[in-house]
Amino acid sequence: MATYSDLKDKVILVTGAGRGIGKSIALSLAAQGAHVVFNYRGDEAKASSLKEEFEKAGGKATGLKFDVTDYEAMTKALDEFTKNVAPISGLVNNAGISKDTLLLRLKPDEISSIIDTNLKGSMMVTQALTRNFLKAENVSIVHMSSIVGLMGNASQAAYAASKAGLIGFSKSVAKELASRNVRSNVICPGFIQTDMTDALNEKAKEEYSKVIPLGRFGTTEEVSNLTCFLLSKASSYMTGETFKIDGGMYI
Ligand code: NDP
Repeated sequence: MATYSDLKDKVILVTGAGRGIGKSIALSLAAQGAHVVFNYRGDEAKASSLKEEFEKAGGKATGLKFDVTDYEAMTKALDEFTKNVAPISGLVNNAGISKDTLLLRLKPDEISSIIDTNLKGSMMVTQALTRNFLKAENVSIVHMSSIVGLMGNASQAAYAASKAGLIGFSKSVAKELASRNVRSNVICPGFIQTDMTDALNEKAKEEYSKVIPLGRFGTTEEVSNLTCFLLSKASSYMTGETFKIDGGMYI
């Protein structure tokens, strides 16, 4: 695991930290002494066991109850935290969903839920924290896009559009807030082993592995290493960038 001393005590919100890539990022941040803020959606028992797990890893952890598509609950929870506990100086917009459907079969409500979660959710969380960012120091925002947002993919038109949208959003935030020392970057993972890719059948996984030069799916730890680098001062001169982490799939 890559470690960065400036992440100690840094207060960082990771959305979708309950499993997969987000959980790995939260654990890795906690192990470096960060204060991890995570959202959860109703399951109080799971939230308290996550808090325990993150704190056991070494950091502090606070769970906030909100869904990224519920603007009111999300702004209320974030406002209360930043006013009463501490300013947030790191954000990982990681919560996301995917649903593979051919364009001809894609329903308007499926498009809405994918765009609302992956793109609008990330935009609204970033906006809700912007006033707080102006008061915080060394702010770094990381948006979890996808290689599919760069290259497109059959059956993933809505997902690809949501992930491509994040890239334009991140570049705009980078330009708008650079003078306030707020950085914004995008990570585009290829195939990473999580619940999202476990849904693929074995044959599909084999076929996909054949088109990855490194010959395998990535691990969540590999994505969290890059995320920690982008959150830390080690990447202080990087903003508005898009980083692929895909085993060479899209060279
Ligand atoms: P998972 O499906 O394993 O986890 C998704 C997380 O997002 C869960 O914690 C889930 O919460 C949370 N979430 C989903 N919708 C919402 C919502 N409306 N409000 C709050 N939280 C929500 O995904 P991965 O770990 O695989 O993916 C993480 C990110 O990385 C996603 O944005 C994904 O698009 C992206 N990505 C993943 C790749 C992969 O190969 N795995 C490849 C490229 C990009 P809950 O537990 O409550 O359901």
